[in-house]
Amino acid sequence: MDLKTAHSFRCPECNHRAKIVTTKVITTETREKYYQCMNVYCSSTFVTYEMVDRWIVKTKK
Ligand SMILES: [Zn+2]
Repeated sequence: MDLKTAHSFRCPECNHRAKIVTTKVITTETREKYYQCMNVYCSSTFVTYEMVDRWIVKTKK
């Protein structure tokens, strides 16, 4: 995935760019990302849930 798009989740309320405040690792394949809207008039905070959907290549250990 492109790093630029991966780090630019938009605020669902106002569609302004939001920044990642903190990331919480749930498992090795799932994590929560806490976002804060960069729009000072909105300032919404929300959490996204990111997980591995499927493997393309999985290196055997
Ligand atoms: Zn917003």
